[in-house]
Amino acid sequence: MTEATPLSGKVVEPLIYELSQPGRTGLTLPDPDVPEAALPEDLLRDDVPLPEVSQIDVVRHFVRLSQLNHGIDKGFYPLGSCTMKYNPKINEDAARLSGFARIHPLQNPLQVQGAMALMYYLQDWLAEASGMAGVSLQPAAGAHGELSGILIMRKYHVDRGDARRTKILVPDSAHGTNPASTSMSGLQVVEIPSNADGGVDMDALLEQCDDTVVGLMITIPNTLGLFEANVKEVIGAVQGCGGLVYMDGANFNALMGIVKPGDLGVDVMHFNLHKTFSTPHGGGGPGSGPVGVAERLLPFLPGPVVDMVEEGSDEEPPLYGWVMPEKSIGRVKAFYGNFGMMVRAYTYMRMHGADGLRRVSEHAVLNANYVRARLRDIYHVPYDRICMHEFVAEGRWDDAPGVHALDISKRLMDFGMHPPTNYFPLIVHEALMIEPTETESRETLDAFVAAMRQIAEEAHTDPDILHGAPHTTPVSRLDEVKAAKDLVLCYGPACGG
Ligand SMILES: *Cc1c(COP(=O)(O)O)cnc(C)c1O
Repeated sequence: MTEATPLSGKVVEPLIYELSQPGRTGLTLPDPDVPEAALPEDLLRDDVPLPEVSQIDVVRHFVRLSQLNHGIDKGFYPLGSCTMKYNPKINEDAARLSGFARIHPLQNPLQVQGAMALMYYLQDWLAEASGMAGVSLQPAAGAHGELSGILIMRKYHVDRGDARRTKILVPDSAHGTNPASTSMSGLQVVEIPSNADGGVDMDALLEQCDDTVVGLMITIPNTLGLFEANVKEVIGAVQGCGGLVYMDGANFNALMGIVKPGDLGVDVMHFNLHKTFSTPHGGGGPGSGPVGVAERLLPFLPGPVVDMVEEGSDEEPPLYGWVMPEKSIGRVKAFYGNFGMMVRAYTYMRMHGADGLRRVSEHAVLNANYVRARLRDIYHVPYDRICMHEFVAEGRWDDAPGVHALDISKRLMDFGMHPPTNYFPLIVHEALMIEPTETESRETLDAFVAAMRQIAEEAHTDPDILHGAPHTTPVSRLDEVKAAKDLVLCYGPACGG
């Protein structure tokens, strides 16, 4: 199988796929208790040979494959901006309760009141934590929340008879999804440069602020891991020219229980349940990016949303129903969003409570600052001040010219750790964006610091170790473009191999 993979690197351990032996089975079926009937001939195919394997072969095959990959359950994962915190296993217990897992979105609401109550409380908790007036749980990811938020802002302006506004201002320290979702909405992106402190350049902002601005889309804390020191002035300036303010809330892990975006004057924001609220992510599985809005935007929320349509009494529980907000931008997702993620996020919030969520953010910020303080004498940190939940260092040295951020990241894999985010944000050369999260122990952080210091030493004394890394993984350097663009996800006759 090795030659079929789009990998340029050496293969340390061959992957064995041919396990089939004629006649071998992994299970026995009980005798049928209904009359046997022949399968319809025209539906039977013989061009997809199924492997004949025992149960233990199947289990070992998939466990082995799973161990070739890196995951948060296997090791440290400081992938900046992605908030790869530990996902508590109790979330999985809750999501598997049959009342949540075995229901259907087309069921009569009267039969799924428990699930609707959970969604109602989750909307409420997110609104409370953020200071927003209302929340829709529909969007399936952060970027999807952004698109929904932009459509809400646009519709708000059009609804009050102002259709001239077509521009979204986006700071250059924004996450890549911000300009992307703006473009998808059909509006125009106007980039606002950063100032020397890594914040929004106020003069540049004021220059662009006029009656063609739909709004500003700002990531807080920004992708440098810095809190926008002038946040009130920035928001005031945009609202002063009639625009709305969208906060990309993917970095909410730094703020919970400390800052409510609604108190700052933010009009719209999204949450990444799969980052801040510990639902598993990566690998393209389901996410959840609820969008929250201030009072004046409530009628435009995507829907339907859950509402309490009848209050309960001593004898009767409350009644929940689906409600379409009056001027809704419409449905942005089939049914009601990725419900399993909502159960996990709600479980996480209830487990922590309000005080616990504040401690989560405090520890996330503390861990990031601890690592920054222990690396800044060796790795240049261009915007070197107290950071929030992550920070950005340079992965380069003038006296080690052949070494790049990528080499450092690849070498880190030899220590059993996932690399930081590379080459982002774009405003830092050879960026290494490091987000340890709150769930890591002092020992893990120290091990990371030790690895990073050893790598810096090697970069100066023996750079070939870095250039050849990783040395201990099942495959070494990938052709990254080919691996992403030309991914081979099937094996055998099904993909012509
Ligand atoms: C992750 C992230 C997003 C996008 O969220 P997805 O769920 O991946 O679509 C947007 N902004 C920031 C700052 C992020 O970190």
